[in-house]
Amino acid sequence: MIRPDIIDLLRVKPGKKFRLKDCNPGWKQTDEFEELGKDALKEKAKAILDANLADLAQAQDLLYADDRHAVLVVFQAMDAAGKDGTIKHVMSGVNPQGCQVYSFKKPSAEELDHTFLWRYQRCLPERGRIGIFNRSYYEDVLVVKVHPELIGRQLPRKKETFGKAFWKKRYEDINAFERHLVRNGTVVLKFFLNVSKDEQKRRFLERLDRPEKNWKFSPSDLAERGYWDDYMAAYEDAIGATSTPEAPWHVVPADHKWVTRAVVADVVTTAIRGLDLRVPELTDDERKRLDAARAALNAEE
Ligand code: AMP
Ligand code: MG
Repeated sequence: MIRPDIIDLLRVKPGKKFRLKDCNPGWKQTDEFEELGKDALKEKAKAILDANLADLAQAQDLLYADDRHAVLVVFQAMDAAGKDGTIKHVMSGVNPQGCQVYSFKKPSAEELDHTFLWRYQRCLPERGRIGIFNRSYYEDVLVVKVHPELIGRQLPRKKETFGKAFWKKRYEDINAFERHLVRNGTVVLKFFLNVSKDEQKRRFLERLDRPEKNWKFSPSDLAERGYWDDYMAAYEDAIGATSTPEAPWHVVPADHKWVTRAVVADVVTTAIRGLDLRVPELTDDERKRLDAARAALNAEE
C-alpha cells in the first residue's frame, strides 16, 4: 500500500482554489519519495502495483458477490499521458466478467441530439461491476471548451449565454449526476493523469520513431498539443469545480508510468476495500436446499 497521507496529497480538496501548477507531473511530493531516487522508486512502485493487483482481484470478486455497489473509474488526460497503459496494467488481474471499459470519441450525430450526459449514462457499470471510462463526460467541459465549435446544436440559441455561466452549469450538472450515482451505490473515482509537456513530446517522438508505435500517433495529436495552455486552463477550472467530497479528483503524476499505475491501483483497491462488502448469506431454506443437493449427490452410484 502507498501511505494514505501520500495519496491524500494527490486528492483535490473540495471547495479550495485548485492550481494545476502546484501539482508535480514527476514525483517529488514528499521527501521520502524524493530520497529514494529514480531506480529504487521504480522498484518500490512495482512492488506496490503487484501487491495491489492481487488485492484488487480479490476485492473485485467480493464486489461481484455482494452485488450492491458499482465502481466507476474515470480517466482524463492529455494524449500520451498513459491512459491506455494504466487501464491495461491496473485491470490485468481482474476477472473480465466483472469489468467494462468504454472509450469515448467524438460524439455521433445521434449523441449530439441528446443532452451531453446521455451517452455516458448508457455505459454506467451495473452493481457488482467496475466500469472504466477512458475519457468521459469531462470531455464536454474540456475539448469542447477549447474548441467551442464542437458543441453543435447543444449550444443555446442566445449566443451571449455561451460563456462562463454556461460552463458553470455544466459543472453543476456533472456534480449532480455524480452525486446521484454515489447516493445510489456507485463509487466514483476520478483520475487526471498529469503529464508534462516535455514528457508528451518525448512520447510523441517515440511513437514516430518506433514503427510498432506509429499507429498510436495521429496528426491531430500534434494540433491539440498546440492548445496545451488552453487545455490546462480548462482542466484546472473543471477539476476545481467538480472535486466534491463524494467524488474527488486525484491528480496523478504521469511522467513516470510505474508511479501512475501504482497510485491508480492503490486508490481503486482501497476504495473497494472500504466498502462494507459481504458474500450473500443464505437463508435457512436455501441452506436446507443445499443440504438436500449434497445428500442427493452423495447418494449417486
Ligand atoms: P483517442 O482517445 O486518442 O482515441 O481520441 C479520442 C478523441 O475524441 C479525442 O481527441 C477527444 O478529445 C475526442 N472526444 C472525446 N469525447 C468528446 C466529446 N464529448 N466531444 C468532442 N470530442 C470528444
Ligand atoms: Mg489519441
